[in-house]
Amino acid sequence: MCGIVAYVGHQEAYPVIIKGLKRLEYRGYDSAGIALINGGLNVVKKKGKVVNLEEYAENTNLNGHVGIGHTRWATHGIPSDANSHPHTSGDGTIALVHNGIIENYLTLKSDLEAKGHIFKSETDTEVLVHFIEDIRNQLKCDLEEAVRVALTRVVGAFAIAVITTNEPTVLVAARRGSPLAVGIGEGEFILASDITPIVEYTSKVIYPKDNEMVVVNGVDYKLVDLNNNVLEPYVKELDFELASIEKGGFEHFMLKEIMEQPRTFHDCLRGRVKADESIIKLGGIRDYIDDIRSARRIMIIACGTSYHAALVAKYLFEDLAGIPTDVDFASEFRYRKVVIDDQTVVLGISQSGETADTIVALEKAKAKGAKVLGICNVVGSSIARMTDAGIYTHVGVEIGVASTKAFTGQLAIIYMLALLIAKEKGNIDYTKYKYLVHELTQISSKIEEALKSSYSAVERVSAACKNASSMIYLGRGLNYPIALEGALKLKEITYIHAEGYPAAEMKHGPIALIDENMFVVFIAPKDKTYEKIVSNIQEVKSRSGKVIAIVTKGDRTISEMADYTIEIPETDKLFTPILNIIPLQLLAYQVAKLRDCNIDQPRNLAKSVTVE
Ligand code: GLU
Repeated sequence: MCGIVAYVGHQEAYPVIIKGLKRLEYRGYDSAGIALINGGLNVVKKKGKVVNLEEYAENTNLNGHVGIGHTRWATHGIPSDANSHPHTSGDGTIALVHNGIIENYLTLKSDLEAKGHIFKSETDTEVLVHFIEDIRNQLKCDLEEAVRVALTRVVGAFAIAVITTNEPTVLVAARRGSPLAVGIGEGEFILASDITPIVEYTSKVIYPKDNEMVVVNGVDYKLVDLNNNVLEPYVKELDFELASIEKGGFEHFMLKEIMEQPRTFHDCLRGRVKADESIIKLGGIRDYIDDIRSARRIMIIACGTSYHAALVAKYLFEDLAGIPTDVDFASEFRYRKVVIDDQTVVLGISQSGETADTIVALEKAKAKGAKVLGICNVVGSSIARMTDAGIYTHVGVEIGVASTKAFTGQLAIIYMLALLIAKEKGNIDYTKYKYLVHELTQISSKIEEALKSSYSAVERVSAACKNASSMIYLGRGLNYPIALEGALKLKEITYIHAEGYPAAEMKHGPIALIDENMFVVFIAPKDKTYEKIVSNIQEVKSRSGKVIAIVTKGDRTISEMADYTIEIPETDKLFTPILNIIPLQLLAYQVAKLRDCNIDQPRNLAKSVTVE
């Protein structure tokens, strides 16, 4: 998943690149490195976070106006100084940073080894820089041509930035699969995996497409494809607030993002729902409403937290709109024989819009003739560009690796979409529709209430379960995906093992795990399975398990049985998932804090999974 940054311009490159790497650190933090051109090539790289690199680089004289930087999430080779990027050519004149995977690196490597190339790392990336060097030597060409030819022979995904001492004002960057944004400033260029390192310097950005290269030479630049055609760049004007990528007084980005949810949920609905007239308008998919309404089937593809939002969507699309809906992990979908046709609408969900597995799965669906729609947060991302149409969640930049506000944003979109399609299909009674639309507009203030009312209860529960080695999360129906999501949050940032199950499944296996050390979280809103959940709670209690119950405000029955209760405000049973996830996000956060975990940068994880 790595983050890459590159700079060419009138400023010193080092501070721009270091700052950029800090903003991209959510993408990976196994190691960090920078290469600058200043006569020769100056490379510093270190295992660990960007601050380690900064400390290490403190006494080195890192000057220069052309440079590249990298923050790594290792795919090939352990996190180590040697495997850190930038990687350099054998003769030490070319340096390269890379986000992605070069799939044919082993073949390339053995060919190069046969020619005498010696490798210092285990990475696929180092093979690419040697390959570029080899082509440059063979063809006696410049860097641009060598990179272009190399990329036509490379299999896999990449966003790369390359510099060379032979052409000290030149920077070559290219992408296929992995993201790349190119900031065009006044006499300077800042390239990065996303716009956060760029926004401070310019609002003009180009997003190269797959198999396109940007070549910067001093104050000039051009966009070319791998066939050497010069292309007309589309320069986009960004509308972005710098404050959205600062912590704003919170201790962690994750807490800031949890607390922002009343506003971000409201932002998702803004301009789309008019409660007084009971109108839902989703401009992005306006031209595809008929396709969805008449679809024989909806297929949703996602990974991780987005997959849990997709499971909520399945329930709603079937319940409200009456359209058969399946959900699949993108990584599974892409490798199996799937039965889809032009009567199938395929919906991809991804916060970043760059999730590699989801992109490839959506491409497959498209090739089979399905209408392909997307729900993403990042404007202009790959999924936003490749789908026929889509809806943005508009929750702002999410930096905490464990997703929170993006999840509730996805839910907001899913509820709007399900209600809209239900109405268009005539599958819902108008009075009920009106009531549900109105209730949806009340949710952001109920999220606010849930944050306030559950905070101290969550603190008490966190203190009790902070040393647990394993926890079980149970929910039913619409809240089964919330059990999965609550367990995922806990695993991600506290490293406590956690499993989510449909509550009734407990007796088919997991009940064997219950003893006096097991904490079981029950999501128990007052819906049609309430009585069944009450029985499940009894089953856990009679085996001495500790029960943490998330209940509707004022629920006395469960409060009396449970060891701990956390109340959420009352709402229609259909909307309970949005409120139930709030205390579960807070619970994971508080436990992680008590365990002194690195909340915004949990081990082994990176935010947007741009490798398969
Ligand atoms: N494959 C490269 C490495 O392991 C880049 C990894 C990535 O982009 O996540 O160093």
